[in-house]
Amino acid sequence: MASSSSSSSSSSSSSPTCLRIGIIGFGTFVQFLARTMLKQGHVVVATSRSDHSDLSSRMGVKFYRSVGDMFSESDRIDVVLLSMSILSMADVVRSLPFDRFGRSGDLPLFVDVLSVKEYPRDLLLQVLPEEADVLCTHPMFGPESGREGWKGLTLVYERVRIRNQDICQKYLQIFETEDCRMVELLCEEHDKMAAKSQFITHTIGRVLSEMDIKSTPMDTKGFQTLLQLRDNTTKDSYDLYRGLYQHNRFAKEELEKLELAIRAVREKLLDVPNGKEHS
Ligand code: NAP
Repeated sequence: MASSSSSSSSSSSSSPTCLRIGIIGFGTFVQFLARTMLKQGHVVVATSRSDHSDLSSRMGVKFYRSVGDMFSESDRIDVVLLSMSILSMADVVRSLPFDRFGRSGDLPLFVDVLSVKEYPRDLLLQVLPEEADVLCTHPMFGPESGREGWKGLTLVYERVRIRNQDICQKYLQIFETEDCRMVELLCEEHDKMAAKSQFITHTIGRVLSEMDIKSTPMDTKGFQTLLQLRDNTTKDSYDLYRGLYQHNRFAKEELEKLELAIRAVREKLLDVPNGKEHS
C-alpha cells in the first residue's frame, strides 16, 4: 500500500474528505453498504473469496483477486472493512498479509460489520498489529430493511482501539449522514441484547421454515406476519444464523429459555380450568 498522511494519527488536518475503503469479503450485505458509500463519494475497492469482478465493475468498485493485490495496487487504503461470514472470519483474518498494509504508524483503521461483537473484537485485538486501530460495528439493518434508505436505522458500534480519531469519525459519519441512529455500546452489551432479540427472531423464523408453514386462503394478519418473518430470516445465509449461535456466548441460554418456554406453554394448555377435570 502506498503510504498515506491521512492514516497517520497526528495528521487530521491533511486528511481527505473522502475515505478510501478496502472491503474484504464482498457478499450481498456489504455490496448494499458499498452503494451508499459510493453515493457519498468515498472510493471503494474490494476483494473476496469468490470472483465478484463483474458486479464490482458495474458498481464502480475496483475488484482484486487477493488482499495482497488490493494493498499493493491501490493508492492508499484508509479503512479495511471486514465483512466476511462470522464463521470464516478467523481463517481470513489470520491469513492477512500485514506486511503489505503499510508502515506500523500508518496502518488503516480496521472495521468489522459482523452480527456478533465480542468475537471479532477479541480476534482483531489478538491478531492485528498493536498499532492498528479497531472499530467494531453492527449495522442493525440489511438490504430489505434499508431498501428505502437508512434514516432511523441503528448502527451499534464500539471504538475498541482508536488513536486516529479523524479516520474513525469520518467512517462513522457515513452512517450519521444517512440519519442512522448511532448507538455506542460495549461489544458485550451488544451480544447480550442481540441474543435476546436478533437471535430469537432468526430462531423463530428458522423454526417456522422447518415447519414449512404456508399461506392459506384464510390467513389472519398475525399469520401473515409469521410468513413475513420466515421469509425475512431465511433470506440470510444459514452460515450467518450459525454464526449468531456459535460466536455469541449468550445465545445458548436464550435457546434453552425458548425450549423451556415452549414446554411451559404446552403444559399450560393441559391445565385444568377452575380445578375441574377434562372429560
Ligand atoms: P454471510 O453468509 O454472513 O457472509 C458472506 C460473505 O462471507 C461473502 O463475502 C463470502 O465470500 C464470505 N465467506 C463465506 N465463507 C468464506 C470462507 N470460507 N472464506 C472466505 N470468505 C468467506 O452473508 P452476508 O449477509 O453477506 O453477511 C456478511 C457479514 O455481514 C456477516 O459477518 C454478517 O454477520 C454481517 N451482517 C449481515 C447483515 C445482513 O443483513 N445480511 C446485517 C448486518 C451485518 P464470497 O462472496 O467471496 O464467497
